[in-house]
Amino acid sequence: MLLVLLAVLGLTASSPCIAAPLGDNVSDLQPVFTGFTRNKLLLISFDGFRWDYDRDVETPYLDKMAQDGVKAAYVTPAFLTITSPSHFTMLTGRHIENHGVIHNIWFNTTTQEKKQYYMTQFVDSYWDNGSLPIWITAQRQGLKAGSLHFPGTAATYKGETVRVRQVEPRFYDHSNETDWRLNIDKVIGEWFHQQDLDFVSLYFGEPDLAGHSFGPDSPERREMVQQVDRTIGYIRDKIQDHGLTDRLNIIITADHGMSTVLRGGLVEEIILSKIPGFSFRDIQFQLLDYGPVGMLLPKEGMLEKVYQALKGAHPHLHVYKKEEVPARLHYSKHPRLLPIILIADPGYIVNGLLPLNSNKGEHGFDNEVMDMKAFFRAVGPDFQKNLMVDPFDMVDVYPLMCHLLGINPEINDGKLHNTKHMLVPKENTGGNNEIPKKNTQMEVVIGLSAAIGFLVLLFIITTSYNMWKRTKA
Ligand SMILES: [Zn+2]
Repeated sequence: MLLVLLAVLGLTASSPCIAAPLGDNVSDLQPVFTGFTRNKLLLISFDGFRWDYDRDVETPYLDKMAQDGVKAAYVTPAFLTITSPSHFTMLTGRHIENHGVIHNIWFNTTTQEKKQYYMTQFVDSYWDNGSLPIWITAQRQGLKAGSLHFPGTAATYKGETVRVRQVEPRFYDHSNETDWRLNIDKVIGEWFHQQDLDFVSLYFGEPDLAGHSFGPDSPERREMVQQVDRTIGYIRDKIQDHGLTDRLNIIITADHGMSTVLRGGLVEEIILSKIPGFSFRDIQFQLLDYGPVGMLLPKEGMLEKVYQALKGAHPHLHVYKKEEVPARLHYSKHPRLLPIILIADPGYIVNGLLPLNSNKGEHGFDNEVMDMKAFFRAVGPDFQKNLMVDPFDMVDVYPLMCHLLGINPEINDGKLHNTKHMLVPKENTGGNNEIPKKNTQMEVVIGLSAAIGFLVLLFIITTSYNMWKRTKA
C-alpha cells in the first residue's frame, strides 16, 4: 500500500505542471480571475462620414476624442460602397459576396418587384442568408445586445432578433438633432445604464443626406459635420453622467464616403439607352439609376450581345461579366448578383433611359477610391490613448468587436491582427479563446494540489497507523 502511494506521489511530482513552483503558477493565473472585466461596447455609424470630413471644419469634440483614444487614417469599406451591404459587413466581418446583402434594393427578377431601402429592412430572407450579425452571436453567448436604427435591426436571423431594438418609422427625419439626443439618452441612460446591455449598435443617417443633396464640398455638408461633432460631445457627456466612462468602449465609424457627381455639360454622362447596339428589349431585369453601379440580367441567349454592346462603349464605364469582376472587390461570387455588372468611375453614375439622378454627391464607387474611405475613431478603457493608426479594412472591425466583448466570432473575412494594436496591451485581455484554456490550466493545478494533499494525508495516516500497530504489537 505504502509503495503504491509513494509511486503515485513520485509520478505526479515529475509532471511538468507540478514540478514548476506552485506559487508562481497561481500568481500567473490570478489575473484571469480578477483582472478580466468585460467592458461594454457601443458601435456608432454616421452614414457617409468620409475619412477627411474633419479637415475643413472645426471639430473640437472629435479632436478631443482622438486625444483620448485612437484615430485611424481611414477605413476601407466593403464593395459595393453603399449603406445596407456595408453595414452588414460591419456586423458580420464578411465581404459582401459572402454575406449576400448585395444592394440597398431587394428585388425579384421574375416578378420585377423592387423594394427600396426602408421596406427591405423587413424582408427577413434578404438579411438572413447564412451570416449571423454580432448581436445574435453575442446573445447566444450570454450577452445582452441592442440596436437602434442600424440597418438589419428589424430582421429575424435563424429565428432570433436583437432583443432590445428600435426601428425608425417609415418617414423618419434622419437629420433632426433633437431626435438624435433623445436616441442617445435612450441608448446610454436606458439600455446601457438601466438595462445593463453589453453591446449596442447605433445609427445616424447623416452626413450622408447632406453629402447627396449638396455635395461633399458644400457648406451644408460642413454644417452637418459640426452637428455630428456636437453629437459626439453629447454622447461622451452622457456616458460620463451615467458613470460609464471606465466601463464602455466606443467605436465610431461609417459605411462609406462621398464623391462629387460630374454633370452640367462638363462630361459625357453614362446613359445606357444612348449606347449603340444596346436595347432594353434584350434585358429581362435591370438594377440601374442607383448611383455608380448597375446590374443587368439579359434575356436568355442575349448575354453576349448585351455585353459586347456595352463593353468599351463609354470611357468611364467598366463592364464585367459577373465572374470577371476584380477579385479584390469581392463582388462576384454570390448567386444574387446578376450576370452583368457595370461600375462607373468616380464622378459618373450609371443611368438607364434618362439621367434621372440629380444628387450632387454619390457613393458606391470602387472602395480603393479615396473619396469612398470612411472615418474611424475609438475610445474607452480598452483602447490606447492619443494613438494614430494606419488604415485597415471594414471586415477587420468585426473580430475586434468580438475580442472586446470576449465572444467567439463566427466565420469571417477579417483579421484581429490588423486592429489589435489599438488596444491597451494586457496579457489576458478579452478573447474567449484564452479564458477557457487558462481556466482549464487553473483547474488542473487545483485538482492536482488537492490530490497531492489527499495522498500526503493518506500517507501520514497509514504510517501513523502502522507505527501505532507496531507499538501496540
Ligand atoms: Zn450609407
